[in-house]
Amino acid sequence: MRRLMALTLASVFALSMSACGSTEEAETEPTESPAAETTETNTDPVLNVYSSRHYDVDKELYDKFTEETGIKLNVVEGKAPELIERLTREKAAPEADIFLTVGAESIWLLNEEGILGDYSSPTVEKNIPEQYRGAGWMGIASRARVIAYVKDQVDPSTITSYDDLTKPEWAGQVLARSSESGYNQALLASFVSIDGAEKATEWAQGVTDNFGREPKGNDRDQAKAAVAGEGKLAIMNSYYWALMDKSSDPEEKKVAEQIGLIFPENTHLNLSYAGIINGGEHSENAIKFMEFLSSDEAQTMIAEENGEFPLNPETAVPEPQKSWIGFKAQDLNYEELGKHIPDATKIFGEVGWK
Ligand code: FE
Repeated sequence: MRRLMALTLASVFALSMSACGSTEEAETEPTESPAAETTETNTDPVLNVYSSRHYDVDKELYDKFTEETGIKLNVVEGKAPELIERLTREKAAPEADIFLTVGAESIWLLNEEGILGDYSSPTVEKNIPEQYRGAGWMGIASRARVIAYVKDQVDPSTITSYDDLTKPEWAGQVLARSSESGYNQALLASFVSIDGAEKATEWAQGVTDNFGREPKGNDRDQAKAAVAGEGKLAIMNSYYWALMDKSSDPEEKKVAEQIGLIFPENTHLNLSYAGIINGGEHSENAIKFMEFLSSDEAQTMIAEENGEFPLNPETAVPEPQKSWIGFKAQDLNYEELGKHIPDATKIFGEVGWK
């Protein structure tokens, strides 16, 4: 059954691939000898990275790591489904050493496919709490999917749970992006895992019934639409508010000023994470990079520049995240979350969340 689901997911991923180009192919390190020939790790100062994170801070992290270790990064960027498909295809002779992505829901699929290799690092164990790491992977930072509201139109004390979005009083007032968004799929999958499919269906139906418009755009667009009067409430990731608030675009800054965030009971906290590739040629360097990403230095850069929550408890939480902490997060098993994605996709279809 699990295998079947994995296949279904893999084919969904394969389908969504067709629209993506892969112009970065030439950036991968030319392979000289197949890694399978030897059990020793290649210690060349090179690290082959596949990344579906696409944030400005990542480039700075790469440069900093190279500066500190002399290890040069070859980065292939792409959409997560496209890169996961590629990792699956290359399983016998991996070209990547490490995979950086957002959305812990893909850990399950990677594990089903045997793509992640185990690693051990006392540094990572010290820096990242157990809940946010596992065999073959390590959380980089967390992000909350929360309820945004238009400040001068909503009393935030009246909304304490995700269920509040389904109340009749918010008919025509809820904004959300499409159900094709991985962020929405992970949110609904988390509800399936915690409350079961029936309750998750009721929730998705209630939200869909309250939509102010057909789902479209990205997270920031929901906040913009709310300010433009298309709805009073929106579902969005907290770090996008932080990014809009510090945006060089005055329009975005103005939107952030008019929007507040509600962290509901059992806030959905997802992860961006790093996965080490089973059989990757430069596993030692991959571990070094994970250790770097878990360090206070890197965690501070991520938290300050990308608005995500640091996972290293030693790292000082900057504003605006500092003003948000104290909320209670869902108790999620990140390795199992992805198991519920097919259910979530099915539910979205049933309730008509486009
Ligand atoms: Fe994002």
